Amino acid sequence: LTQLFRPLDMLGMVYRTIRQGLIDMAEMFRLLDTEVEVPDVPCAPALVIRKPSIVFDDVVFGYEPDRTILHGLSFEVPAGEAFAVVGPSGAGKSTLARLLFRFYDPQSGRILIDGQDISQVTQASLRASIGIVPQDSVLFNDTIGYNIGYGRDGATREEIEAAARGASLNSLVARLPKGFDTEVGERGLKLSGGEKQRVAIARTLVKNPPILVLDEATSALDTRTEQDILATLHRVAEHRTSLSIAHRLSTIADANRILVISEGRLVESGTHAQLLRRDGLYAEMWARQAAEADALNEAAE
Ligand code: ADP
Ligand code: MG
Repeated sequence: LTQLFRPLDMLGMVYRTIRQGLIDMAEMFRLLDTEVEVPDVPCAPALVIRKPSIVFDDVVFGYEPDRTILHGLSFEVPAGEAFAVVGPSGAGKSTLARLLFRFYDPQSGRILIDGQDISQVTQASLRASIGIVPQDSVLFNDTIGYNIGYGRDGATREEIEAAARGASLNSLVARLPKGFDTEVGERGLKLSGGEKQRVAIARTLVKNPPILVLDEATSALDTRTEQDILATLHRVAEHRTSLSIAHRLSTIADANRILVISEGRLVESGTHAQLLRRDGLYAEMWARQAAEADALNEAAE
């Protein structure tokens, strides 16, 4: 009988996860794949945020028991600051974002938001407090208005319009024959990668979370579109606490602080200028990316 209930359980979880404002479908399928469900503790209170600081306190985590991914990661993002996370691919950057959203619990150590251990509060309140813009946002086969309003249950048309303006989608919507009622996706209008990311940003604006996590939100875009979207994201990140995971270092050079993660450990942190002077991993990654950009420019000339 348990065999039968397991899939039903999973469906229930997926439904709840959607209701809680999870918008990254890729994550959802990964969740289904690994069949991990993190329960709320009995009578868990809601997360109450006055100052949205984030603390990772000696966090150890692995997806599988015999392979540790994060080896005692500690850092603090003060409320209202814009921090960046960089490091080689596979370093554990997306993993720390997943832990913050509590897709998984650490094996040891704690994650605090505004001083509250996220494993002790309701997941609904936790997930309502964090907006995530992933690399590839998934749109539903529905109207553009629905796709934006999906950020929060019960969003009004006015809120959707304001979010579209905030994400600089208003000129696109104005050009559409049916405006916000235009169908997008396979059944309707095909949006470019940049336009899709703007829809994801508009969703986040509707949600209006105090914490913003960008996981390579612009890395699938060409450099010019990336510049446009970054300007929008900077506006959205104002007055919030933000964590930008970035592949292209040029996109986060102005962060208040940059955390350099390698093999699940914090190996350096500081401002862009401090990290260049330090002449360590960050400086090396920066030099490599600058050389690659030069080579591309030369090839283009
Ligand atoms: P990054 O975002 O820094 O590129 P990730 O956090 O995605 O790296 O991954 C860190 C490590 O964890 C990688 O070795 C990756 O293969 C592994 N990993 C990621 N997701 C899973 C998963 N669901 N199950 C098992 N291992 C995973
Ligand atoms: Mg990643």
